[in-house]
Amino acid sequence: MRLTFFGAAGEVTGSMHLLETAGKRILLDCGMFQGRREESRKKNENFPLAPADVDAIVLSHAHIDHAGRLPILRKRGYRGPIYCTSATKDLCAIMLADAGFIQEKDWQFLNKRHRNSLPEPLYTAEDGAAVPETMIGVPYEHATEIFPGIALTFYDAGHILGSASVVLDIATPGRPTRFVFSGDIGRTGLPIIRDPKPPASDQPADVLIIESTYANRVHESVAQAQELLAGWVNKVSKRGGKIFIPAFAVGRAQELIYELHGLERADLIPDVPIYVDSPLAVNATDIFRLHPEAFDKTEQLIRMTDDLFHFKLVSYVRKVEESKRLNERRGPAVIIAASGMAESGRILHHLRNGLDDHRNLVLMVGFQASHTLGERLRSGASEVKIFGEEVKVRAQVALISGYSAHADRPELLAWTNGLGPKPRRAFVVHGEQDRLEGMASLLREAGVSDVAIPTLGQAFEL
Ligand SMILES: [Zn+2]
Repeated sequence: MRLTFFGAAGEVTGSMHLLETAGKRILLDCGMFQGRREESRKKNENFPLAPADVDAIVLSHAHIDHAGRLPILRKRGYRGPIYCTSATKDLCAIMLADAGFIQEKDWQFLNKRHRNSLPEPLYTAEDGAAVPETMIGVPYEHATEIFPGIALTFYDAGHILGSASVVLDIATPGRPTRFVFSGDIGRTGLPIIRDPKPPASDQPADVLIIESTYANRVHESVAQAQELLAGWVNKVSKRGGKIFIPAFAVGRAQELIYELHGLERADLIPDVPIYVDSPLAVNATDIFRLHPEAFDKTEQLIRMTDDLFHFKLVSYVRKVEESKRLNERRGPAVIIAASGMAESGRILHHLRNGLDDHRNLVLMVGFQASHTLGERLRSGASEVKIFGEEVKVRAQVALISGYSAHADRPELLAWTNGLGPKPRRAFVVHGEQDRLEGMASLLREAGVSDVAIPTLGQAFEL
């Protein structure tokens, strides 16, 4: 058995690992490197495998840093199976098309800078939309033989709709070899989706690959996050201000709608109009409605209604003209718009128009990477540049960390303990250096003796 790390090795993005076993080559995730445009294009373009080098792909979830290189492999001729949950398949249909659209835009931008020396985009919206043609939806906790002697089972990772941890049981003399890939592990109590379920077994995993995004952090609880959200809506409405929430269109946007719906039903927020201003978020919300099988049936709102995303306060905005009209609107409102780090998308228009009003609030509900507008606002900048214009920041800026889609340190430890006997060997991926080391020491403290932090391209004989 041989394992090679082709991404999320020593960094967060580009998740992709190749497992070679029993004469088959199985690719776990096929994610995109993200970050600075120029640098990530080079990393993504330099794809390390030919389509013929891969017999099957197993995809943990639809986030672009896990699925975003699939269109490259398809464009080069890969037509083999891609196993994932059916919610992941549906989300990929819109997310990969959207990623292709962004690639087309990036190509136009980079081509100007390089005097037309780039022959074509990395891939197009059309390339992205074609990927689900060979995706096979597999239910959770249902062992599926993907090759003779290799069984695949998904467990809910509780990270985004359809997200999974991956188990491969490989027939070997004596007992099967158990291979576990955590995918991205979510949080306990996140709205809509179920809590993460570690793939428990009385056999130790022979190999574990585990993420470490927040291995050094402790988040506030989701219940505290909802309380904070209610507090802000009350406070800002009372002073006649608007709340701008930069949010990822898939996942975070739906969670916020759901939370606000719950607060409205419980009469904990005033009657303030809520606008979801992002076509991708609107499409993603439709996909959520198609996958009640992935919902957490223990949550009160889910038991109370079949229509989680429609209530009297919420409106969905698709058209650009309608979005522009929101700027002229007077009085309190909540505006949820992409992108999550305020780097692009409609949130920029709202911020340009609303940042100089002290009654308004910018509410950060997700991770803000360095060098983004979101991070500049979060760190208290008094002036920011939007569309080349200097804008004074008079609006208040606040942060809610509890809606993070990633497990914190105690939750990562709980997940690892939930596996059963200690894994024999562990590889730590998907984190910045201090988090990778934090997770490695957490595993060692928990009794896993053989722990490695692989580097990009590193291969291990197992
Ligand atoms: Zn993810």
